[in-house]
Amino acid sequence: MATTPEAPEREATDFIREIARADVESGRHPRVVTRFPPEPNGYLHIGHAKSICLNFGIGQEIPGSCTNLRFDDTNPVKEDMEYVESIKEDVQWLGFSWAGEPRHASDYFDQIHAWALELIGKGLAYVCDLTAEEMRASRGTLTAAGENSPYRDRTVEENLDLFERMRLGEFPDGTRTLRAKIDMASSNINLRDPVLYRIKKVPHDRTGDKWCIYPTYDMAHGYSDAIEGITHSICTLEFEAHRPLYDWLISNVSAPCHPRQIEFARLNLTYTVMSKRKLLELVEGGLVDGWDDPRMPTISGLRRRGFSPQGLRSFCGKIGVTKYNSLTDVGVLEHAVREDLNKTCPRFMGVLRPLKVVLTNWPEGELEEIEAANNPEDPAAGSRTLRFGRELWIEQEDFMENPPPKYFRLGPGREVRLRYAYNVRCDEVVKDDEGRVVELRCTCDMASRHSGPKKGSAVIHWLNAADAVPVEVRLYDRLFTLEDTGTVPDGRDYREFINPDSLEILKGARAEPVVLGLAPGARFQFERMGYFCIDTKHSVPGAPVINRTVTLKDTWAKVQAKQ
Ligand code: ATP
Ligand code: MG
Repeated sequence: MATTPEAPEREATDFIREIARADVESGRHPRVVTRFPPEPNGYLHIGHAKSICLNFGIGQEIPGSCTNLRFDDTNPVKEDMEYVESIKEDVQWLGFSWAGEPRHASDYFDQIHAWALELIGKGLAYVCDLTAEEMRASRGTLTAAGENSPYRDRTVEENLDLFERMRLGEFPDGTRTLRAKIDMASSNINLRDPVLYRIKKVPHDRTGDKWCIYPTYDMAHGYSDAIEGITHSICTLEFEAHRPLYDWLISNVSAPCHPRQIEFARLNLTYTVMSKRKLLELVEGGLVDGWDDPRMPTISGLRRRGFSPQGLRSFCGKIGVTKYNSLTDVGVLEHAVREDLNKTCPRFMGVLRPLKVVLTNWPEGELEEIEAANNPEDPAAGSRTLRFGRELWIEQEDFMENPPPKYFRLGPGREVRLRYAYNVRCDEVVKDDEGRVVELRCTCDMASRHSGPKKGSAVIHWLNAADAVPVEVRLYDRLFTLEDTGTVPDGRDYREFINPDSLEILKGARAEPVVLGLAPGARFQFERMGYFCIDTKHSVPGAPVINRTVTLKDTWAKVQAKQ
């Protein structure tokens, strides 16, 4: 019989990977060097994961290539070591490693300063005394040219002297800047004599008091790329209009190489804010349980929620890399994660909202051992022994007193199959004083152990009451009610759209005792209820807090099938 060889995993491709591969094939570069350049002013989010998968993906896929991790720490005010550590942890957790040690733009301050002197020496940069306000007023508009600064024609000597005195701390913050001398009439506003250095008398985490002038993003970024020998400097579309400045700055100094800047569209997700500034506001305002709140789109939040690195990488592969800004349905992310968890998670039983079932014909005190596969699709996942007895828990939603047509679960006089066990029929509904259903008295069909469900009756999950352990389960919904949180209606604040029902805590849930032995972070499926994990922050030994990662219902797959 002929066998079909397994299809090789398709190599990821997109226009940036194609450019990089072509540059190696043509011999333009012997190898590719990319970088991931986060500013350490917040935790990484799922948008950063897109950039990480692209940059580190290219570094891994093209033989001999690599990717640097570079902290863009040019702004000493907003940075924090906590962020640096979290960024390293998140990149590694996603499954990537950087070349050598992490780098810092601040490592290059001496070289960047030397290139500033080179620009001044060539008459291409000048010290300007305009205030920020005056500079803004003279910059012109999209349709009108800007005005030359009155300080634009200072001599090289004067500029060198003033720039040196800026460095020595002779002038207060904000009184002088170093600006590139390009063209105040350029149709590209970024080329209208952009600021290259600012005075900021603030010590820096890494350089201490050595500097009181700091390079701007444009000044530091391309030069850092050139110093590291980056071949392809990949960034998001907002920087497209900065590319002429990127090229101007590099080509006007004696840089060792000229990296190529390539832009791609950033990731935007429905019902999700994706800006570090806003995420910081949510954290500082106490609106969420920290940067790693399971509802946050941060990598640490998604990790705590139970998302897997493979699930996030596969999501990034699915959305691809393009030049067009768009809004991705958060369902695509959930779909990718669900697909991965389906392959990797053991299955257990958990009852989120328990309802007592008493089997009136089951002998008091008798227990039957039932072997259950941990993952019916994966024999390697092993099995465990469940015990079945007279008192059980089922899910409240699996019973209806007046069931509509097509409800195949339990109701008065109806029969249902308990997974791996028996068919049971509901004979009597016991209610409390307020009319709430508190117990179902049922008959077990003793002959049904190895039969299937009866026609028209469903299979539901259950727990043996004597064995089930109490657990706290946390259910999450989207954090915002507004689909496109990037375009909040005029006069409104995105925080007005926080979903008040984004977290539901179920204190009375029950689970198989096996969950008590799971390590914090362990992921599993509660049959029929979704994928869950042991919360790493609030669980204590013997009393786990269990996060629901995603439900089993795949709304996205349905949408896709319809299309
Ligand atoms: P934010 O706008 O969320 O504050 P940022 O761009 O200021 O993000 P950086 O730390 O500068 O954050 O980003 C590091 C890298 O991640 C940059 O190359 C940036 O282009 C990329 N990046 C940031 N946000 C996204 C996103 N939503 N999609 C894709 N890449 C992103
Ligand atoms: Mg930034």
